[in-house]
Amino acid sequence: MSDLCDLSLAAAAAGLAKGDFTATELTQAHIKAVEGAKALNAFITETSEIAQAQAQASDERRSAGKSLGPIDGIPIAVKDLFCTKGVLTTAGSHILDGFTPPYESTVTENLFAAGAVMLGKTNLDEFAMGSSNMSSFYGPVKNPWKGKDSKDLVPGGSSGGSAAAVAGRFALGAIGTDTGGSIRQPASFCGIVGMKPTYGRCSRWGIVAFASSLDQAGPFARNVEDTTLMLGAMTGFDPKDSTSAPMDAPDYGSGLRDGVKGLKVGIPKEYTMDGMPPEIDALWKQGIDWLTAAGAECIDVSLPHTKYALPVYYIVAPAEASSNLARYDGVRYGLRVNGDTLDDMYEATRGEGFGDEVRRRVLIGTYVLSAGYYDAYYIKAQQVRTLIAGDFKQAFEKVDVLLTPTTPSAAFAIGEKMDDPVAMYLNDVFTVPASLAGLPAISVPAGLDKGGLPLGLHLIAKPFDEVTLFRAAQALEDAAGFDARPELLSSSFETPASRVPQDEGN
Ligand code: GLN
Repeated sequence: MSDLCDLSLAAAAAGLAKGDFTATELTQAHIKAVEGAKALNAFITETSEIAQAQAQASDERRSAGKSLGPIDGIPIAVKDLFCTKGVLTTAGSHILDGFTPPYESTVTENLFAAGAVMLGKTNLDEFAMGSSNMSSFYGPVKNPWKGKDSKDLVPGGSSGGSAAAVAGRFALGAIGTDTGGSIRQPASFCGIVGMKPTYGRCSRWGIVAFASSLDQAGPFARNVEDTTLMLGAMTGFDPKDSTSAPMDAPDYGSGLRDGVKGLKVGIPKEYTMDGMPPEIDALWKQGIDWLTAAGAECIDVSLPHTKYALPVYYIVAPAEASSNLARYDGVRYGLRVNGDTLDDMYEATRGEGFGDEVRRRVLIGTYVLSAGYYDAYYIKAQQVRTLIAGDFKQAFEKVDVLLTPTTPSAAFAIGEKMDDPVAMYLNDVFTVPASLAGLPAISVPAGLDKGGLPLGLHLIAKPFDEVTLFRAAQALEDAAGFDARPELLSSSFETPASRVPQDEGN
């Protein structure tokens, strides 16, 4: 691995500004690292030609004396759920075969306007439904960390390719989406920082929709400061998204050096789970001690409706998904499987184009929205969602942020939990409540389990108070001093034989 790939994003930006290396050199080092990490299957489409052109343009801007932001010339990875103009966009699904959007998502457009360099489109669970990356049509992603007996592990999901790219040091930052935990859970599994902003901060325009009232884009990076720099280049009001918040983005890193003296941190007593490994509880207690030692006041709080969050999410999200995915009918996008009649064509296309998990969600969603069940399931779930949001509102009258574990376990082996959807859904137990309430939240790598695998701590803040969220996250990062690394990539991973050939798409 080149030293350039081991820099933080902020250090790389400083190096570019000082002229220690060019964006082209930085990008070439990362393209080489992407090549070396092929066995992880983190990318669906590599876009090295685009990356080189963007890097060259950045170098030209710099030599022309333009004043450049911190992302200019920085190689990043983009989850393949963001539409990218002229570049294959698959959402990890067979049904979007060959779909090349004629438009750019607002978030990627913002990043490119800030000078970001796109290394490629990363692998994900199909339509972002999953917690392991196992549901991708393009095959599973391997976590750069290895399990006991050198077992291959999942990187988490759904943004598993993005998390693996940052943890494996073949991208300085990445973007993902988080509907119920899809940034925070893979960040925790891969030992990096992953953050979901307040619903409405990032435009959803041009992001393939999963559950529209929950979907939010957000950044991955290897430390908190880098995460603020990524987010700063992503957010802002967008008239093309009716749920985009009509407000200016703050300087997300403005509180990083303020410390947490006097900050009130809520510890919600409902965030424990039967059968949770004792290390997770121990790490949570350690987090409380760290923040207390740094001058924060940790206070017990109650979020009484927490236990309903997972069932509510698994009604609301599939309901919205079943409606959003109705558009994939063989007429307008991607795959078409012909049939004798129009109905036959719809059925054949959707039958062949969607994988098992997506089909399961469409069936659940259609069921909970159907006459006779709508009131009992969908309406009830929406009512309970309001109660969950109310719990947070009350807690935030007393505290500034909440501290919880990110996930109830460390990364598990590829193939595990595949025959038990409920076991898979339990991955999201700590991340889903903040999603239902639209709150900003972050996972910070904080320790290792007894098998040497990373574990994250999770902070949740008030709506649009990302500055305080990052401030508390920085205190955790400083105290944890997490510097463990995944095993070196190339030698220890074999390229999967079943790998689906790549579409260059550009
Ligand atoms: N794992 C959750 C699910 O399967 C969350 C996914 C996400 O946030 N996109 O729905």
